[in-house]
This record gives sequence, structure tokens and C-alpha cells, in this order.
Amino acid sequence: MSRAPESPHGPLLPILYREIEDRCRETAESLPPWPCRRGCDDCCRRLAEPPRLVREEWRRIEIGLQGLAPEVRSEIEDRLVATAELDTGPVVCPFLELESGACGIYDHRPSTCRTYGFYQLRDGAAYCRIVEEHADRDTEASPWASKIVWGRQESIDHRLKQAYGAPIPLRQWLRERRDSTTGQQPGTS
Ligand code: SF4
Ligand code: SF4
Repeated sequence: MSRAPESPHGPLLPILYREIEDRCRETAESLPPWPCRRGCDDCCRRLAEPPRLVREEWRRIEIGLQGLAPEVRSEIEDRLVATAELDTGPVVCPFLELESGACGIYDHRPSTCRTYGFYQLRDGAAYCRIVEEHADRDTEASPWASKIVWGRQESIDHRLKQAYGAPIPLRQWLRERRDSTTGQQPGTS
């Protein structure tokens, strides 16, 4: 299937991830202490639904899974199978390492996880309650909220969609994966 051309500077995804990372770092550094950090797992433990992602992101996650220690991968694989069967949220993200609270695929996580806590939808939705509480602590001595320049989530979504097609729920990727390993026709379960 043909796709719209990616960025003239190369594949979009690494460029986009770098841009998001730069923006998040700048935001966090300009307004310390920003609460997002690796190991803060509140958002990962209470997802309204597992992330949506484009095929290229899913391909990267598969690479990330292959690099995990066997016991960690085995635990995550079991939870991926269970998540494929779920029809509704909320869910604990199957990629979360439950004991440490770290993302098991941190370097390969999708864009929605990278922007979460730093980007907003136009209507102001889609950021974390911890960040929100932090933002509400706007005082004269610490004018936090008034200085936040939120990233625009729609812009990221639009660029991803242009380059790779519409993002698909994680469950759907997991079901395709399950069906391809069991030889089942996609969509027959
Ligand atoms: S978005 Fe919220 S829960 Fe997630 S890392 Fe940031 S502060 Fe923690
Ligand atoms: S992929 Fe990683 S960062 Fe994203 S929700 Fe899951 S555990 Fe959290």
C-alpha cells in the first residue's frame, strides 16, 4: 500500500520524537520542578484505553520488546496477550514494569506517551492530573501555570497521520499479532 511521502529530511518518526523530546526538556527545564520523570507511572497505571499508534511505532515497539531481558519480556508478553482480549478500559499499560514503575519500552514508546503531560488538545484536555495539580499551584512567587506553553497535540497527530495513516488502538495491533502467531484470519475473533 502506498503512503504519503514522509519528511523531505528523512523518516518523520525520529524527527518528530526528537522535536517532542526537545520541547519537553525545554518546558521541564524552564519550569522546575516539572513532575514528569521516568518511573512516575500514575498515567501508565490508569489508562482510559491503551495508546493508539501508527504501524511504524508498533514496529519500533516490537524491536524494543526483543531487546528486553527474557524474564521481563515474558511478563510483558503475558500481559500483551491479556490486553488483546480486553474490550474496554481502564487498563494498566501492558508495557509497564509493575514493580519498578518504569516503562519497559521507554526508548521505543509511542508519541502519545512522549507528549503526555506536556501537550494538550485544543480544548485543554489530555494531560495528567499530577501536572494539572502542579499547574494549579500558580502563585506570585512561583508563576508556574501562566508560563506553561503547552505543545499542541493535534499538530503531532496530524503530522503522524499524513506520514503513516491513522493511528490504530494498541489492542488492534495486539490482535493482529496474536492472529498472525496462531494462524487465525484477522478479525475473526
Ligand atoms: S504525565 Fe503525569 S503521571 Fe505521567 S509521568 Fe508526567 S506527571 Fe507522571
Ligand atoms: S508505553 Fe510506556 S510510557 Fe506509554 S503508557 Fe505504556 S508504560 Fe506508560
